[in-house]
Amino acid sequence: MNRVYLDNAATTPLREEVIAAMVEVMKVHYGNPSSTYSIGQEAKAIIEENRRKVAQYLQVSPAEIIFTSCGTEANNMIIKSCVNNLGIERIITSPLEHKCVAETSFEMKHTRGVELVYLKPNQKGDLDLNQLESLLQNSKKKTLVTLMHANNEIANLLDIEKVATLCKQYQALYHSDTVQTVGHLPLDFSRIKLDFASCSAHKFHGPKGAGFAFVRKFSGIKGLIVGGAQERGLRAGTENVSGIVGLGKALELAVEHMQENTHYMEDIKAYAVEQLSQKLPGVIFNGRSAERGNSLYTLLSVLLPFKNPLIGFQLDMRGIAVSQGSACSSGAAKPSMVMLSILTDDQLENTTPLRLSFSHMTTKQDIDRLVETLLEIKEMDIEKMNV
Ligand code: PLP
Repeated sequence: MNRVYLDNAATTPLREEVIAAMVEVMKVHYGNPSSTYSIGQEAKAIIEENRRKVAQYLQVSPAEIIFTSCGTEANNMIIKSCVNNLGIERIITSPLEHKCVAETSFEMKHTRGVELVYLKPNQKGDLDLNQLESLLQNSKKKTLVTLMHANNEIANLLDIEKVATLCKQYQALYHSDTVQTVGHLPLDFSRIKLDFASCSAHKFHGPKGAGFAFVRKFSGIKGLIVGGAQERGLRAGTENVSGIVGLGKALELAVEHMQENTHYMEDIKAYAVEQLSQKLPGVIFNGRSAERGNSLYTLLSVLLPFKNPLIGFQLDMRGIAVSQGSACSSGAAKPSMVMLSILTDDQLENTTPLRLSFSHMTTKQDIDRLVETLLEIKEMDIEKMNV
């Protein structure tokens, strides 16, 4: 059976060029980057070359890039150190954040007594920046704002430049989880004055186990993991050289093909919206995800007009991988915080969320297979109800 993969926001397949670059490093440049002899120093030079690549993409200094094992680690490191080392007393966030930001912030409230304040999204998943400004205006507490760039469930984009400007105006620190946008959108942090950001290589056809934290110079952030001087003392432990090379290669290719891939995926998404709307009357698209130019082009959040908590499983049985758009680590489809925040009680009761996410490898035939299979499953459900 030909597989259809529509869960690229969860992870992406590696590009061949990335695999080749990583294999070369594993075979040839196996030295420990902390060793002073030449094979070690070669590995060190390779890391620095890739740090420069990342820094160039973000328009920042290479010293501001700290390689980590993943986006989760980068987000943990930044938020925890803001509280533990920079005296943050209040975190302003939203219920739309990824679990690794949400749970880290929650932990800071419970273990460190930090005040935790949530912005309230509307039914489209938009955040009110006037609410943010009034919160920033009306407290003297040292504040960290943590609001993601693109939402991983509904594709809403936040104007991070505006948020960064507001934070600067009121002397708050700003961290943005940019895991879904690094490698997909141009990002210029010489213009966008945020303090911290995060990245995960496996979201743009790089390897799992490699990511980075962007940490603005002189921020005073300390590492989570101690016991070595690697990454300027901010991330102890022998570096994942092949992973860093994979990240660098994947980013290089992502940047090179960004324009064509953006247009390609925008068309795929528009086709999915058209087909689903035509063949499944009553379908709804969550947040801003169906709005071209107003959402991250890689992702479409669908609300199927019928209830079927097993839909992900049933699609999988027919060779189609999608996410149910809900945080269901246990396998039980429970609505995520994002869905709980934007859907009505009636929608939560009678509909089924489905997250489709695309890559340059997705085809219109994949969308056709998905739509046909959804119709088949819906027909089966109706037949069962009539028995
Ligand atoms: N932040 C967002 C928005 C994500 O979508 C993800 C992964 O799904 C993460 C953070 C975590 O990244 P990683 O898988 O590298 O830990």
